[in-house]
Amino acid sequence: MTETFALPDNELDSPLALLLDIVATTTRRTREEEREGAETAAADHVYRAYTSTLGAALEDTQWTGYPALGGTEPSAVAYLGAGLWLHHTTTYDTEYSDGGDALALIVPCACGRGYITSHLESEDDLVELLAELHPTGGRAEHGSDTRGRYCASIPARAITP
Ligand SMILES: [Zn+2]
Repeated sequence: MTETFALPDNELDSPLALLLDIVATTTRRTREEEREGAETAAADHVYRAYTSTLGAALEDTQWTGYPALGGTEPSAVAYLGAGLWLHHTTTYDTEYSDGGDALALIVPCACGRGYITSHLESEDDLVELLAELHPTGGRAEHGSDTRGRYCASIPARAITP
């Protein structure tokens, strides 16, 4: 939490100082709640909708939550191994949302310069994707995505374990 401005030494117990304190504490609590809520939502979704795959392979504690930032919903990510990630967010207004849950598999591109995001709609989707990745050693084929989202949309440096 960065302070918006510093008060003079003789005003450190002024109403404004107390007010800034209260706001900072509230913001911190809100972020913490969003972070924890995002982790719980992700773990719940995977447990319910991906019971025999992700629900079995992933511990609840492997999700890392992030508060809402810059207009985005709170989200959570889980590292799967070999550079692959899961991303979960709760949203009600995208075509990818599954009853409020949007889950995506993020796979490093074969070219090594970025990642390809695949939105998962079901456990079948995931199984199919993993089967496709099997011969490539867990790398997405560069430029093969039919939605036209090339790996450059997520530079490799944006995601580091
Ligand atoms: Zn690529």
